Amino acid sequence: MPDLQNLKRVDLSDLHQPAQIANRIHRALSQVEGPVPAVRIARALDISQVRLDKFDGFEGMLLTDRRRSDGVILANTCRGDRRARFTVAHELGHFLMERHVPSDEAGFRCTAGDMQETREMQRHFRQEKEANRFAIELLAPGAAFKACANLAPDLEHVRKLSTRLDLSKEATARRYRELHEAQVAMVFHRNGLVRYVDRSDGFPPPSVKKDTTLPASVLTGVSSGTCPNWRSPIPRTGSTALPWQSCRCRRSTRRRATGSPC
Ligand SMILES: [Zn+2]
Repeated sequence: MPDLQNLKRVDLSDLHQPAQIANRIHRALSQVEGPVPAVRIARALDISQVRLDKFDGFEGMLLTDRRRSDGVILANTCRGDRRARFTVAHELGHFLMERHVPSDEAGFRCTAGDMQETREMQRHFRQEKEANRFAIELLAPGAAFKACANLAPDLEHVRKLSTRLDLSKEATARRYRELHEAQVAMVFHRNGLVRYVDRSDGFPPPSVKKDTTLPASVLTGVSSGTCPNWRSPIPRTGSTALPWQSCRCRRSTRRRATGSPC
């Protein structure tokens, strides 16, 4: 259990970038072995109450004033506890980034609604993006990925990190892709239909497109967790689409690390 005594909001007041704020919080906490205690961190940074419950119409809400004297966070648990943890960190990001403008008099109300191309919505979109960036930097610190960032890409690492960090597999997979030294692409699907592809800069455009069906050969065994591609990278010259549990990668030119896997 990390000691939060050294965590002071005033020490964050000169920072405005999400990654910088999250990194300074981690420095104050020192090493966190298990899940990052998002609620305790929020409470230590002047959030007077965090309420986790089932709500209608929003993922999360931050009730505060323009001076950010204190705040109350509401996080919807309808999509699971891990999602709620992420929401707490997201709302804390709004609270700590004092340039973020509340969506109404009461504070911030965050939904998954589509964005419109108005100036107001562009600002809202930027703020949401920054709050998401803060949340992932806080809940999935780079240090946790260091041991496997230069090993051959393996979704077993993603699964273990997801459990260790108490973070969704999807969020963990995207962070893993982002921090891995090799170029990696992840294909996310629902019921065999491609949702999106997340890939490293320079990774070739994927052969699979949004809303197309993944080949049955790739989907075989996914539901039982026995997909033969679970551990094996797909050759980048292949045209096979992947379930999200697989990764498509180009091996790094670096030598495989000899340290223990994460
Ligand atoms: Zn938000």
